[in-house]
Amino acid sequence: MKKIFRIGAAASGLLVYGAAGGHGFSDVFKTAEGDLKISLPGHATVFFEFGGTTVWVDPTKPYVFVPDHPPKADVILVSHEHGDHLDLEGIEAVKKTGTRIICPAVCAGPLPGGEILANGGKTAVLGVSIEAVPAYNLAGMRSPGVPFHPKGSGNGYVLTFGGLRVYVAGDTENVPEVKALKNIDVAVLPLMTPYTMTEEMLADAARAFKPDVLYVYHTRTEDFSKLRNLLKDSGIDLRLPS
Ligand code: ZN
Ligand code: ZN
Repeated sequence: MKKIFRIGAAASGLLVYGAAGGHGFSDVFKTAEGDLKISLPGHATVFFEFGGTTVWVDPTKPYVFVPDHPPKADVILVSHEHGDHLDLEGIEAVKKTGTRIICPAVCAGPLPGGEILANGGKTAVLGVSIEAVPAYNLAGMRSPGVPFHPKGSGNGYVLTFGGLRVYVAGDTENVPEVKALKNIDVAVLPLMTPYTMTEEMLADAARAFKPDVLYVYHTRTEDFSKLRNLLKDSGIDLRLPS
């Protein structure tokens, strides 16, 4: 069954002039070069529509099919190799001739044709600049000394659309590289222990780089009271699945 989240069209900061949910949930932001629509259809999948350009991050089944007609990707970004992020069927569903696929080296084997972007790497596609941010665990261990996400392996991404900087974190904790991010307008952060962040980690990261708008994704909880409390008075516009 498709699970469709919807973000409330609550009062927003300067950046957002409207919130709408034609499919999944979406918000529209004004940038210096036109509108940016961000859609979060579920779990770790996010896509952006900006002018004629569509960028998908971690397109996986079933979330690529939450929209009735998922827009085809000009660019697909993959954060890391885990099945809830790298899904060949999901990629196939949104791929078209000429789609650029960008991923860390750990995905290059299963994903032929992927262009490798390592932590700290930068590129630009169709006027969208893309920076790869380290995504890893310091606390979350698969077994003693073996993190679920080892440092240097996976990427988060900062995407710049018409001057608007959007950070999609992937599977990470509030590691120093994340907390050091600057000038983030919109952030998408994961909330799921032990694989990603606790509420405390998420709030700590958000308070460090202070996005105007913060989405929570990659979550299994529907109780956000603790997070709301931790971000109270932060000035951050927290937008939650509902
Ligand atoms: Zn993962
Ligand atoms: Zn994950």
